[in-house]
Amino acid sequence: MGHFLFPFSKQMAAVACAAALFPKTTAAQQQPPTHHWAIVVHGGAGVIERSALGPEGDSAYRAGLTRATEAGAKVLEQGGTALDAVEATIKVLEDDPHFNSGRGAVFTSDGRNEMDSAIMDGSNLKAGAVASVSHTRHPISLARAVMEKTPHVFLVGKGADDFGESIGLQQEPPSYFFTESRWQQLVKQLKKEGKPIPPRPAGVPAEGATVPMALLDESSDSRHYGTVGAVALDVHGNIAAGTSTGGMQAKMPGRVGDSPIIGAGTYASNQSCAVSGTGTGEFFIRLTVAREVCNLVQFKHMPLQQAADEVIHKELDDLHGDGGVIAITPDGQMAWSFNTPGMFRARLREGGKLEVGVYNDEP
Ligand code: ASP
Repeated sequence: MGHFLFPFSKQMAAVACAAALFPKTTAAQQQPPTHHWAIVVHGGAGVIERSALGPEGDSAYRAGLTRATEAGAKVLEQGGTALDAVEATIKVLEDDPHFNSGRGAVFTSDGRNEMDSAIMDGSNLKAGAVASVSHTRHPISLARAVMEKTPHVFLVGKGADDFGESIGLQQEPPSYFFTESRWQQLVKQLKKEGKPIPPRPAGVPAEGATVPMALLDESSDSRHYGTVGAVALDVHGNIAAGTSTGGMQAKMPGRVGDSPIIGAGTYASNQSCAVSGTGTGEFFIRLTVAREVCNLVQFKHMPLQQAADEVIHKELDDLHGDGGVIAITPDGQMAWSFNTPGMFRARLREGGKLEVGVYNDEP
């Protein structure tokens, strides 16, 4: 009889183990919908105040958040996966220059855009990430391609962009990502720090040729972090998380923040929650913020909001870090928590009303 048995390879053991740990994945997708979908989105946290934003800026940011949340909701409404919803939402924000991701990303101190992104599927713990990419229009799609089309989790720099190009992801010159406002913020910050001002990127309009759009200042004075992120729950009961960013204004070339680091700025597991963070990435890396929130849910059985508040208002505060998170659980809890004056945020659940918030005195 022995010859009828397949040798039980390590790979098969891993598959069996994953199936036991995450039984919802394949079985649930063949079943009729059993869950009510939900989505939470952020567009960065920081010193976001009414006086600085003004009524026009306020409505532009709210409109951007609304468009992005609706894009994700549409996917979920049609029975699409949380992963697809997260990617669709973030692509809208990457195209919107108000946010610090994709078009509108901040600059390194030598005047280039180096973008970071990650995506994670809570149903099977698959994850993909990229850092320091400069040409791929949608870093979130590149992160997803790393997850789905390579044996790796994390690609950086030219290798990541080249991979994106090789699989047909849209590539752009530096002038596409450039915005005059962010450039002026960079110049201001470098001057303040007594550092040299790099040449303007090739192909961008001459200084003074365009009227800079009203973007929130990302420089160190105002400490606004316009990173974008989304977490979603689909009708199959699976959750996912994604984050995309230009990083911190005037960062050192080669600096990588928390956003693309699995467990720091991005994490998702059906056994606990999905989280996307925004803030000074160095603190989020040191605290492994995203995984920490999920640990409190999984091992201390905390309600999601309490877990998020514990990490942001206690652990992050204790380190004097700043920022916030959005989070969701497979049973439909949604949360946001931040220790800054504002966080661009929105959420929507099936059959519910879209909530959009900016300042910390809003619900
Ligand atoms: N967390 C991001 C980073 O440190 C910045 C942000 O959230 O805006 O790269």
